[in-house]
Amino acid sequence: MTRFRPVSLSLRPALLLALAAGLLLPALLWLLAEGLFGAQLGTAIERHRAAVLLMIVVQGVAAAALTLRVLDQRLAWPLDRLAEQAQALAAMRPVPALQWPVDDEFTPLARGLDGLRTRVAELQSELRASDSRLHRAAMYDGLTGLPNRALMAELFGHEAASARRAGRSLALLHLGLDRFRTFNDTLGRGVGDELLKGMGHRIAAALRDSDFICRGAGDEYLLLLSGTEGWDRVASAAERLLRAVEEPLELPHSGHVVGLSAGIGIAMYPSDGTDFEGLARAAALALDRSKALGRGLYSFYQPDMDQALRRRIDAERELAHALEHGEFQLHYQPLVDAASGRVVGCEALLRWLHPQRGLLAPAAFIDGARQCGLMCDIDAWVLDAACTDLAHWLHVGLQPGRLALNLSVQQARNPALSETLRDALGRHRLAPNQLELEVTEDAFTHEPDGVPRALARWRALGLALTIDDFGTGYSSLSQLKRLRPERLKIDCSLVRGLPDDAGDCALAEAMLGMARALQIEVVAEGVETAAQRQWLLAHGCPRQQGHLHGQPMAAARFEAWLAGHAAPALLQPA
Ligand code: C2E
Ligand code: MG
Ligand code: MG
Repeated sequence: MTRFRPVSLSLRPALLLALAAGLLLPALLWLLAEGLFGAQLGTAIERHRAAVLLMIVVQGVAAAALTLRVLDQRLAWPLDRLAEQAQALAAMRPVPALQWPVDDEFTPLARGLDGLRTRVAELQSELRASDSRLHRAAMYDGLTGLPNRALMAELFGHEAASARRAGRSLALLHLGLDRFRTFNDTLGRGVGDELLKGMGHRIAAALRDSDFICRGAGDEYLLLLSGTEGWDRVASAAERLLRAVEEPLELPHSGHVVGLSAGIGIAMYPSDGTDFEGLARAAALALDRSKALGRGLYSFYQPDMDQALRRRIDAERELAHALEHGEFQLHYQPLVDAASGRVVGCEALLRWLHPQRGLLAPAAFIDGARQCGLMCDIDAWVLDAACTDLAHWLHVGLQPGRLALNLSVQQARNPALSETLRDALGRHRLAPNQLELEVTEDAFTHEPDGVPRALARWRALGLALTIDDFGTGYSSLSQLKRLRPERLKIDCSLVRGLPDDAGDCALAEAMLGMARALQIEVVAEGVETAAQRQWLLAHGCPRQQGHLHGQPMAAARFEAWLAGHAAPALLQPA
């Protein structure tokens, strides 16, 4: 502890005293000697003058020494202590409290420094606490409390280094639960979370002390087994883990008991990969193979594994990344009344601004999204983004007409869709008749029962249905009668041949006649030429969409285009 020697005098009086002693005392003594003995002593004065001078010198020296001493005690020493304390604080060294028992000119500074010291100590401990919180958040999964992928990658680095030195192998297991999505959808997210937590701890308990587990994406876990030499021993460990997963799992919070199964993909270090990401990718491919073969199975990675699987996993990652990082955008194409040129609606068309490949049309990625189960998430994004744009246009006084959204078959079958739609309409303050949903006719042929049920729910909300790409699928006329969509869209491929291809003309005429009989409105897609427009108008199909009337445009451009079409356009000559 830094202790300051207590001195009772404060600095300024002490200095004054020292000066007085040094300068005034010799003068007083001189005057006293002159006054008392000046006359009698005569020449004796001469003798004493030297003595007095000597005394003055001695007094001066004594006064200077005293001043120096006082300066040292009262100024230099405290300044040193304060400087030491300040330097220690600046260097963030732990310092004890500065004891300052005397109340002098330095006391406020000493107190200030001590306050600073206390605050620095508090901030340091807050910093340490938030540092460890950050470290936990960066290295552990928030839901299950298990290490996350980043920590696993770090651990893998150490394990791989020691395995390499010892000439041992490691096994990376990618375990994915089967049917987790169904549990999540039917029992709710809360139960799903409890299940993931419970299962994570169940799997961790089935591992040996030398093994590691981390939570991967969604319902997946990564396991690193060290010291498990030989394929047969890894296989029996995988078998043991799969059986552990299959034991009924009690969820105390929700009171459910669930029976699950899982698949495992296995990749070996160093034969299947030497870096963590490469090995994890190999294990993911092997997991995909297991899942393709059935439930409750494990597979080892094989270098010749299906390239399509690899591409699919890549596509899934890329699409999930695109969704998360806002790489999707909507373009809008107007739907016009060709007789008057008025805009009567628009269709939202999805685009992906790929960081390397540029702007992509749906044909380049929709199949991939469908296969990897991301289509519903993408459709949900489209719904929200389109409603945001529509609400904005209405707010600024534009009239885009009814907004059509394309719905994937998966989304059309999704029982939660009507709730999602109701929520989106409410949030964006839109009326149901401002939106319509387009579904391709294939949706009805592949899921003859599922879609009509969903359809009934949209109808209850007041949303219109359009059957898209009509004439390209296998829909039966009886189904059309049963579904009674509000609109049919004749596909581009049929419109292309108008008016020269007699077959296309006959087909288009038949469709228009049938729709008229069923009182279903028809929209012609892909209208590119004035001749097509004219033929369709002459055959009672004024609702048209196509490059002739307006290309799909990015939202901002479409807004400007709409502003230019605020007034009904004049009829154009054919
Ligand atoms: P669709 O719904 O039949 O959309 C019409 C397609 O025709 C669009 O292609 C559009 O750009 C194109 N098109 C418009 N006018 C013309 C024209 O005059 N000539 C020609 N040749 N083509 C024209 P796009 O944007 O590539 O979309 C293709 C399909 O992708 C769409 O067909 C739709 O089935 C699907 N799709 C688009 N956006 C979405 C979406 O947000 N969600 C889902 N699930 N599917 C979408
Ligand atoms: Mg469409
Ligand atoms: Mg279409």
